[in-house]
Amino acid sequence: VLRRVETEKSTDITVHDAEGRVVIPGLVDAHTHLVFAGTRALEYEQKIRGASYLDILAKGGGILNSVERTRKATHSELLDSARKRARTMVAAGSTTIEVKSGYGLSLEAEVKMLEVVSQLNSALPVEFVPTLMSAHAVPSEYEGNSEKYVEYMLEHIIPEIARRRLAEFSDVFCEKGVFSVEQSRRILLESAKWGMRPKIHADEIVPLGGAELAAQVGAVSADHLVAPSDEGIVQLADSETVAVLLPATSLFLGLAKRAPAREMIRRGVAVALATDFNPGTSPVMSMQLVMSLACSYLRMTPQEALTAATINSAYAVGRGERAGALEKTRQADIVIMDAEDFREVPYFMGSNLACAVIKKGVIVARDGNALF
Ligand SMILES: [Zn+2]
Repeated sequence: VLRRVETEKSTDITVHDAEGRVVIPGLVDAHTHLVFAGTRALEYEQKIRGASYLDILAKGGGILNSVERTRKATHSELLDSARKRARTMVAAGSTTIEVKSGYGLSLEAEVKMLEVVSQLNSALPVEFVPTLMSAHAVPSEYEGNSEKYVEYMLEHIIPEIARRRLAEFSDVFCEKGVFSVEQSRRILLESAKWGMRPKIHADEIVPLGGAELAAQVGAVSADHLVAPSDEGIVQLADSETVAVLLPATSLFLGLAKRAPAREMIRRGVAVALATDFNPGTSPVMSMQLVMSLACSYLRMTPQEALTAATINSAYAVGRGERAGALEKTRQADIVIMDAEDFREVPYFMGSNLACAVIKKGVIVARDGNALF
């Protein structure tokens, strides 16, 4: 598809002819849980058949099921499955992918997950951004005693992950029944002391004050935001925090409630997009599909969706100065789409239009296949 054009002037410049196709910046997936063992496809069927969250938990399902399987998995099992999924993501145009830990929930297993992210970074020709998320859930050994688990994180997990330089960011699931706003604040401030910038799973289900907390602690991003308060939106608009919206999650769960994207944009919040790829609530790997959902489901325009999936999501993972836009000063992360108009990218919902994906000037996927 992509013809290499020979140039006479210089031998170290390769010129490719995109033959009139749409050329956009490499897509930045700002929120994933890429590393985990097993899937939860059985639980998907159980939910469709009407099982409640508690039924599923009682049958050993839910997030703690992924934790149990991830704890048992070896490095190479986790690396192999993550690599396979990353191939699909990159073939669909993602060139920078944030990855959270959080299916370990013990020092040993969180280290293992983040070491796998580090191995992905050295083994594959795209960028993975590591985030510590030991505050993803309360592990079963601390059931009913989240305070004790928070202390364990503060004293053991956060300092050790920082000492080993395994994560750039630290994230917390600030939600009713998981970690409170005050616990989240302590976790994020302690992480920041150790050099890991805050991110927050904020106001996904109820308006708990996650958006406000994100603005107050200077979080690089506040993610989900299906149910932020008005005050939370105002505070985000006045902050440097990027709102990362995850419409695939709402759609996969069949929820009617969705993030108020129009209201956020109207108030001046910087809005980004991500897949939230994870085994329980979003097995979605394509940022192109997420752009379609942002348009059809969140009523963002194709222009806004493209901005949100590139430059804004680059800022949401601390890469705003070198990724997310086509400029001489940035790395050459580029996707050539088999389209004549960029609006066709969200418009052809569910298709992969990426015919060439380029990372730092090197072609890493062609016609739907990763070259690694
Ligand atoms: Zn998440």
